[in-house]
Parts: sequence; C-alpha cells; structure tokens
Amino acid sequence: MSATYLLTFFMLPPLCIRYAGKSMALAEVTPLQALLLVAVVYACIELAQYGIKQMRLRPFILELRRQQLPYYATLSLVQQKQFEKRVANFILQKSFVARGSGFTVTTPMKVRIAASAVQLTFGLRPVYFSHFKTLLVYPDRYYSTIFKRYHCGEVNMRGYIVLSWADFENGYSNATDGFNLGLHEMAHALHLENVIRNNEYDFLDREHLQVWNNLSKSEMQQQRYTQSGFIRQQACHDEHEFFAVCVESFFERSHEFRLSNPLLYDAMSQLLQQDPARRVYQL
Ligand SMILES: [Zn+2]
Repeated sequence: MSATYLLTFFMLPPLCIRYAGKSMALAEVTPLQALLLVAVVYACIELAQYGIKQMRLRPFILELRRQQLPYYATLSLVQQKQFEKRVANFILQKSFVARGSGFTVTTPMKVRIAASAVQLTFGLRPVYFSHFKTLLVYPDRYYSTIFKRYHCGEVNMRGYIVLSWADFENGYSNATDGFNLGLHEMAHALHLENVIRNNEYDFLDREHLQVWNNLSKSEMQQQRYTQSGFIRQQACHDEHEFFAVCVESFFERSHEFRLSNPLLYDAMSQLLQQDPARRVYQL
C-alpha cells in the first residue's frame, strides 16, 4: 500500500450511508477516527478478558504461595511466577472428578496435583497434557475390574489420569525415597502426550529423546539379567515404566541417580531440561 493511498484514505470525509435516495452522515467520524474507535473497543475487550482470566487464576496462585511446596520454594522469584501461572492454567484446563462417597477434590488438592505435572515439565515450554482432560481422584486405592486388582494410579488413553489421593500424599511425604505416585503418573502422561497428534505433539527434543531411548533400552536389558542396580525392578516392564520410575528418582534421589548412572541421568536431564542434582530447574 503506497503512502499516497494511505494519505488519501485518511483524508476521506465522514462516513455516509444512502437512505431513501438521500445521502446521510453515518456519524461525524472520519475513517481515521473510526479505525481508532475500533482499536479502542478491541483493546477494551482484550483487557476485560485478561482481567477475567487473572481473576480465575488468582485463587490457585494464592493457594500455591500459601502451601510453599518444596520444589516451588527452591525456585527463583521469576521462576516462581512462571510456575504459578502454569499450575493455575493446568487447573483451569482440567476437570477434577472425585470418586467415592463424601470425598471431594479441594483447591489445595488440585494445586498439589497440578504442581506435580508442572514440576515435571518446568524445563520445557508450557505443556499441559491436553489429551488428558480429566483427573479422577480416589480417596485411596481402587479396584480395577480390568486387571482384577487394586491400583494406586494409572494413565488411561481415553484421556484420564487416575490417582489415589492417599498414595499421592505418601509420595510427597518422603521426598528422598524415590517413590512418588504423582510424578510417576505425570511421567506416563508426558511420555504419551509427546506422541499423540494434537496441539502439543512432539514437544520433546527428538535428539535428546533418541539418546534417552537408546540408553534406556540397554539399561533395561542389563537390569533384567543382573536384578540389581539403582532403578527398581518395576522399571523393567517396558519403556514407559522405565521412564516413569526414572523420573521419580530423578527428582527425589537426584544425587544418587547422577552418581550411580551419570549417562542415564544426563540423558534425562537433557530430555526434561532440568538438573535437580545441581538445583537447576530450567537449563
Ligand atoms: Zn507406571
């Protein structure tokens, strides 16, 4: 668009309409004023929407600040702000469903569950596991009619993350034993989300993932024969279990993990873009 054209456009007389064969002034506004008016209205709508969203995020942010969860408390002030936003956004995007009579999923519980997902993904660009829209929370272990046994958690391809609240709490009550149900199930969700074709598909760095896959394959082989080592045997079922179990140790026993298997630790560190052993949460 040439400068002359623009100049001509803005010099046009006030907008008119034709009514009953007569020309009537639509309003005493020039095209420039009309454009400005549209811009102001648009900005007001955007501002109002932003304000409404901030109001919806606020209770979860305040609850997170009140709880001072250990991972959150270790972050810098700038990182804490990012973490707060991600936790609140995660909650807004999910439906939390309580299973069991008289049991409810409260705001503090939602914050803790969301924080475990954000802890895992904090080194990456924001990822909210968009395939998994519903979190089913049981007060305690629940009976699976498919597997005919009690479960403490699972991730279901139909879009559910299922947790036993008692086991979730136990996971965080001891922060150094390498058992953490929340991180374990979120790790399953992350692993699957990366291969589900949706708006978050393929968010893990392919090279880092390849290094991880190669190393984990050989580690699983080795562990099957030796039946010993740092990673518990549950990890040897398949590559999904191996990843989820390693995630638990990565955050809860990071120093031991790094010392016992530096290659595997570095591969996970690169994959998740965090290095908890060095207290670096965004590489
Ligand atoms: Zn698992």
